[in-house]
Amino acid sequence: MQRFSGKSVIITGAGSGLGRAAALQVAKEEGKLTLVDLNEAGLKETAEEIRQVAPNAEVLNVTANVANESEVENYVAEAVKRFGRIDGFFNNAGIEGKQNPTEDYGSDEFSKVVSINLNGVFYGLKHVLKVMKEQGSGSIVNTASVGGIRGVGNQSGYAASKHGVVGLTRNSGVEYGQYGVQINAIAPGAIMTPMVEGSLKQIDPENWEEVGKGFVEPNPMKRFGKPEEVGHLVAFLLSGDAAFIKAAVIPIDGGQSYK
Ligand code: NAD
Repeated sequence: MQRFSGKSVIITGAGSGLGRAAALQVAKEEGKLTLVDLNEAGLKETAEEIRQVAPNAEVLNVTANVANESEVENYVAEAVKRFGRIDGFFNNAGIEGKQNPTEDYGSDEFSKVVSINLNGVFYGLKHVLKVMKEQGSGSIVNTASVGGIRGVGNQSGYAASKHGVVGLTRNSGVEYGQYGVQINAIAPGAIMTPMVEGSLKQIDPENWEEVGKGFVEPNPMKRFGKPEEVGHLVAFLLSGDAAFIKAAVIPIDGGQSYK
């Protein structure tokens, strides 16, 4: 008997990075998965990786844009139709956007980043919560960021959206505790995923790995986090082992936030 035996878990942004790592962890622990992403090819790759570690895992892939509320309603309905319930929800899809000082930060870029990272998380919360409240149980993990706790610079849209995710988590976390539903957020620091690789390549396409070394130098661990390290934290928060943790924002950043 594993922690996710018989449980149904939705993961957004499951076609890459942290979402994929969490999906692999939940699948290894016998969870039934609804994987959501805009990137259909990424979802297929994740499902293939799952088959290698958990050949009997039940996986439903749903291609959807989390910034579109009716597509969010649809992925929630698909998960319920297939698995009958939702026990865990990793509300994780997001983008970083282009980096620029605030005066040069594109207004369209700001709206785009906020609509995916904040509106997308809100829509997910809203529609999954209806199901979990009715069940009287469930655990949600929203993906914030160190950039949702403190200033990192050149990321107006990202910072605003991730601070917003922290606010949504605290607000709904205290609202829904009484219904047996727990809502927390993770605040990752620099974790080596395709998103971070892309942002290092924005700075220097040729020597991005060198740029990366400089980037993590101030971190007490002096390295990037690994997606699977985040996958372990997410699985813990979704599993029921973390039942008394509510409305919390948990850094996973090698100590960066406390330096
Ligand atoms: P990633 O780019 O590897 O994965 C993000 C996934 O989200 C991709 O598969 C992408 O297709 C999907 N996605 C993007 N926009 C979408 C949309 N509108 N609808 C549906 N899916 C969409 O990035 P990652 O590093 O795994 O990031 C996952 C989350 O973690 C993001 O919210 C990100 O802001 C957050 N985060 C990452 C880091 C890090 O260092 N990697 C740090 C802090 C926070």
